[in-house]
Amino acid sequence: MPSSHQVVVVGAGFAGLTCARELAKNPGVHVTVIDRNPYQTFSPLLYQVATGGLPEDDIAYPVRAAIPGVDFHRGEVVRIDPLAKNLRLADATVIQWDELVLATGSTGATFGVAGVAENALQMKTIQEARDIRRRLLLTYEEVDIGQKPKEALRVVVVGGGPTGVEVTGAVAELQRSMKHEFPRVAEFGHVTLVEAGSRLLPSFTEKSSAHAKSELEELGAVVLVDAAVDRMYESDVHLKSGEVLPAGTMIWAAGVAAPDTWTSLGVADRANRLRVQPTLELSEGLWVIGDTASLDGVDGRPLPMVAPVALQMGRHVAKQISARLVGQPLTDFVYKDKGQMATIGRRRAVVEMPGGMRLHGTPAWLTWLGLHVVYLAGGRNRVSVVADWMWNYVVWGIGPRRTVID
Ligand SMILES: Cc1cc2nc3c(=O)[nH]c(=O)nc-3n(C[C@H](O)[C@H](O)[C@H](O)COP(=O)(O)OP(=O)(O)OC[C@H]3O[C@@H](n4cnc5c(N)ncnc54)[C@H](O)[C@@H]3O)c2cc1C
Repeated sequence: MPSSHQVVVVGAGFAGLTCARELAKNPGVHVTVIDRNPYQTFSPLLYQVATGGLPEDDIAYPVRAAIPGVDFHRGEVVRIDPLAKNLRLADATVIQWDELVLATGSTGATFGVAGVAENALQMKTIQEARDIRRRLLLTYEEVDIGQKPKEALRVVVVGGGPTGVEVTGAVAELQRSMKHEFPRVAEFGHVTLVEAGSRLLPSFTEKSSAHAKSELEELGAVVLVDAAVDRMYESDVHLKSGEVLPAGTMIWAAGVAAPDTWTSLGVADRANRLRVQPTLELSEGLWVIGDTASLDGVDGRPLPMVAPVALQMGRHVAKQISARLVGQPLTDFVYKDKGQMATIGRRRAVVEMPGGMRLHGTPAWLTWLGLHVVYLAGGRNRVSVVADWMWNYVVWGIGPRRTVID
């Protein structure tokens, strides 16, 4: 076995880190991980940072600590040359590779809807979550001192998938808790969830969709389905039906796409995801995994852009690289569906397991809490998240929030 087979992994997210960790066990491989950030973001909990439930430190984990023994290079990859087998960083550094694993995730997609890019906040990064938190909290101060009208406390969330449902529920809970800090204006806090399709959580069963809707309504949110956004302005959202929703904060959770930087490397689908072979190879020695890859599942539809797919793809590619080095044949990737879940608020969630088992309410919420703690990287973060949750879920409403305006 060659002793210095250079594997470069671009992207230290769920897919890239899993792949690097597995490859690091192979003494015949030298692994370098490149990411623009020195930390991994635990995206499933971004909405809690955005709504003041968790500090950002809880959901970021240092890459260097996550993968001891692996070289980490902080940088933005701007070009990949599969023929020369090298890549270029934004600072003009050129790095050679024998095999490359592209795991650059996805970004928010506005689908060209007018005014979204300029006026709506998105939630793909820690900075974006901080921007949402800042806007939500600062608006209470501004309305309280008469600097902004009370309509500014209205929030519109667009997109009824798991992220939209989770952030809507958390905003509704935040607005409820504000009555202690801003008793004069808190009653004007209001959140509307807008979904273009006929129901929330379209990948879940109709029963779970209906449950999520009624739970959100119980929390005081207004849910509009069959309601497509036509355009957005600074302080309102215009629907295709002609209805106008005034808002001080607009959150766009209606779609994601892979970065368009790599589409010239192969054939990309409508969401810029690169169509990979069943082994997850794009061309010999160039692998694509996680949200950046497009591969059909057993139902003939592209696998969803979710963490379990990214984790399993990362593990699979590490095995393929090791297998090829010892002359073994490659195997196809087969996704093992682990089910899906979405939380709506305290003691409110929906969980659907592969065998048809469904959980709603407190059991679903406890399952959601437990799984998120297990998958968080790092003992410190786990302890810290559990401590924050215990505080929030026991004291929230009568005690101060964990985070402050920055
Ligand atoms: C708000 C939100 C909530 C979510 N909730 C859930 C959930 O509850 N359950 C679930 O299963 N999934 C959820 N997801 C989806 C899940 O986070 C993704 O499917 C998963 O992160 C994909 O893993 P990945 O490794 O492909 O990409 P990521 O984890 O996004 O990692 C990509 C990495 O690549 C780096 N990168 C990108 N481009 C470059 C470049 N040019 N140069 C250098 N580095 C680069 C990025 O900095 C990042 O670290 C959620 C996503 C979001 C945004």
